[in-house]
Amino acid sequence: MKCRWLSLLLFATLGLTACSESSPPVHKAKLFTLGTLVDVSVLHEDEATAQRAIDIVEAELAVINTQWHAWRDSPLTSINQQLTKGETITIDATTHAFMQQAQQLATDSQQLFNPAIGSLVALWGFHNDDRPEDAPPTTDKIDALLKQAPSMGDITLTATTLSSSNPAVQLDFGAFAKGYAIDQAIARLKQSGIEHAIVNAGGDLRAIGSKGKRPWRIGIRHPSASGVIASVETHGDESVFTSGNYERFFDFDGRRYHHIIDPRSGHPASGTVSVTVIHRNAATADAAATALFIAGAKQWPQIAQQMGIDEVMLIDDNLTIYMTAEMAKRIHLEISDAEVKIIGDNA
Ligand code: ADP
Ligand code: MG
Repeated sequence: MKCRWLSLLLFATLGLTACSESSPPVHKAKLFTLGTLVDVSVLHEDEATAQRAIDIVEAELAVINTQWHAWRDSPLTSINQQLTKGETITIDATTHAFMQQAQQLATDSQQLFNPAIGSLVALWGFHNDDRPEDAPPTTDKIDALLKQAPSMGDITLTATTLSSSNPAVQLDFGAFAKGYAIDQAIARLKQSGIEHAIVNAGGDLRAIGSKGKRPWRIGIRHPSASGVIASVETHGDESVFTSGNYERFFDFDGRRYHHIIDPRSGHPASGTVSVTVIHRNAATADAAATALFIAGAKQWPQIAQQMGIDEVMLIDDNLTIYMTAEMAKRIHLEISDAEVKIIGDNA
């Protein structure tokens, strides 16, 4: 009521119709962490409450970035050194939960999401802030690592310890930690009484509530041209994650080598240019986007089903777009000339 009177008054006197009660203001912050720019938008009446919540998120993301950094000296690089020596590592409850979730996702993806292949990722030169301009690794080096077959199945976890039966296991959570961090950020926002927010790390995000009277609207980057290829509105509490071959790559002798490594071949996965997944949990969406990228146009429906993912869009290197029926129902394609194949639509 107060709000309506206020807007009438404002409209009469100033020509304004803004009504703060029906649509709280958006408070925004830009944080540089997790190797990308993270945009946090929070809707709340009270600026101090919003700012406090954003500060908590910033602190939480900084802790996670430090903990799981794969190449700068970090608790993770210490864990990796100990795993090489076959040592048993003492872990806390947070690390246990993190590892358990990653291990489960690796199993569900048939080890296509394989965070134990840190040595392969390093061999391809991606354990660097900027990849040095040099050639791909030799087949001998790749084969030597493949033979050792590191996987999350080699890891034994107890509530307080972590060990590996395979000294070749080197953990790299580049395909999972961003999602995990966004889940933690959203949990902190909810604890701070925030009901409408979005945490967006370079296009990978989780959104809760709405942007005032409208849903949050998300653009999905075109994998090989500027602009967006599709857009989608989120409802309730949802994450939208995309893995693309354009994120980190180098060109050598006219070929592109990107950072999503197929654990079966030891080479960058071929055939796919991007995969978008919508799922409630961001860590699951993150790992799934990576796994389905590797699975490719033929195998992705089976892996998606095993991972419990209903909403998928995969774009192959002919720019053919594959989608689940659930994704097709809600996504708006912003291009008209693409071939679209809807998978599993029995209607
Ligand atoms: P982005 O971080 O660009 O969104 P992804 O989520 O697909 O992309 O993560 C890619 C990162 O994950 C790589 O940079 C590497 O650190 C790691 N990685 C590469 N291949 C795999 C894989 N098969 N399983 C798990 N992690 C991987
Ligand atoms: Mg990922």
